Amino acid sequence: MTHVKHLVIGAGFAGLGTAIKLQENGETDFLVIEKSSDVGGTWQANTYPGAACDVPSQLYSYSFAPNPDWSMSFSPQPEIQAYIQRVADESGVLDRFRFDTAVERAVWDDPAQVWEVDLSDGTTVTTQTLVSGSGGLSEPKLPDIDGIEGFQGEVFHSARWNHDIDLAGKRVAVIGTGASSIQIVPELARTVGHLDVYQRTAPWVIPRNDRAYTGLEKLAFRHLPLVQKVYRTAIYWGRELYVPAFTRNPALALPALKLARANIARGIKDPELRAAVTPDFRIGCKRILISNTYYPALAADHVELVTDGISKITGDAVVTTDGVERPVDVLVVATGFHTTEQPIAQRVVGRDGRTLSETWAETGMTAYKGTTVHGFPNLFQIVGPNTGLAHSSMVFMIESQINYIVDAIRTMDRAGHSSVEPHRDVQEAWNDDLQRRMQQTVWNTGGCASWYLDEHGRNTTLWPRSTFTFRRLLARFDVEAYDVTAPTPIKEKVSA
Ligand code: NAP
Repeated sequence: MTHVKHLVIGAGFAGLGTAIKLQENGETDFLVIEKSSDVGGTWQANTYPGAACDVPSQLYSYSFAPNPDWSMSFSPQPEIQAYIQRVADESGVLDRFRFDTAVERAVWDDPAQVWEVDLSDGTTVTTQTLVSGSGGLSEPKLPDIDGIEGFQGEVFHSARWNHDIDLAGKRVAVIGTGASSIQIVPELARTVGHLDVYQRTAPWVIPRNDRAYTGLEKLAFRHLPLVQKVYRTAIYWGRELYVPAFTRNPALALPALKLARANIARGIKDPELRAAVTPDFRIGCKRILISNTYYPALAADHVELVTDGISKITGDAVVTTDGVERPVDVLVVATGFHTTEQPIAQRVVGRDGRTLSETWAETGMTAYKGTTVHGFPNLFQIVGPNTGLAHSSMVFMIESQINYIVDAIRTMDRAGHSSVEPHRDVQEAWNDDLQRRMQQTVWNTGGCASWYLDEHGRNTTLWPRSTFTFRRLLARFDVEAYDVTAPTPIKEKVSA
């Protein structure tokens, strides 16, 4: 059985960033396990037409690897994926990555003070620390619609796009009107013969202030790093202004609401269609989407927005609750991801023999500082419970967590701790505070259902404070909040 000091799950922004920072801190004994065949995570998986980031790339990138060559303020997916690949290549960590391999099960062995990790290639690896960067939006959620398995045409999820299918001239249906769908719909509208868009809940969509960077700007970013830093900082603070609007004072969201209403008016002339796309919940309750092309696409003659619920799917059609049957060749399900019951949680077994999912079954997802969980020694989750954002760059949150984890490893090494595990009461106090803050947020009070909330209505996904507060709270590994274990007598005996 192989032993590595640190095992990292996932090679997206989180896993790659962890590998780079471990290496920078002199750690060489680590392995990164990635189920797909490349780095990139969500940016490797989401290749649907129109895929792009809603956060400007100057901010949605590693602080330690600025890219002067972004073509647009909101970069398209291929450019982000190429950036991640380049950073991975240049960092020299890739020889410690094992691709096309999934973590099947990870079990904490308390006497040995290691995680025993079974991999899909049939091998088992033991490790002192297990860092999960497996992603908050990585497991597609398929709609449970009567008859969908019997559909004779092609059907695929937005995050599993089938590029072998030529959609030109076809009858296509898109189910869902979230962030993925509103990027897909305008692209499909360009080529397909007919497009039906099945909307269960209308989203608020504000204009996308996108533009190409000029040659001069790129030159400045390349040769005057301070310029790019100032640019990044300005975007950061601009985004942070959303926090009070979401968490404390809804009146501050008024400018966004005006923009969204004007976007509808600009993109759609038909009053009935305008009414159909106007949400009935407070802006911000669901993620605010950005697009200049979504509404004009819906207004096109060969595109139909269907607001009646789907009752069933037959071999070649979608049937709505009003009995109308719309024939379709290709069905795109843009129905989101499993967010409140992360798949990795079913595979990780803690100190008392229970999985993370079993531990969370009653409480919902909870962790300490979104990173560590009582009962799961030396498990560090990146993008864990309540670390998601509705307004800014997840890379900022990811880097905050990586700093915390690297400091935890340093602290353990210095003190000779073989394991650390947050005190139960500290974790509970952290979550009580989070949930108290959550009560006044638009996500919990804005009158909508969203992937932010779990089945009990608890918001276990979003961070309800400023991102700089998160950065500050995770700036140092607070070992005093943890139960620590010194090396066990068994280990001492072995090494003696
Ligand atoms: P999503 O926001 O969860 O949207 C899923 C859509 O599918 C919703 O409109 C939902 O309707 C609908 N839906 C789900 N099940 C359905 C069913 N059984 N019947 C009919 N409709 C159904 O998923 P997403 O669009 O993939 O986006 C997920 C997250 O990924 C985003 O919030 C964002 O954080 C991230 N993302 C970011 C970008 C970007 O940066 N540009 C792009 C894509 C995704 P209801 O609203 O009624 O539930």
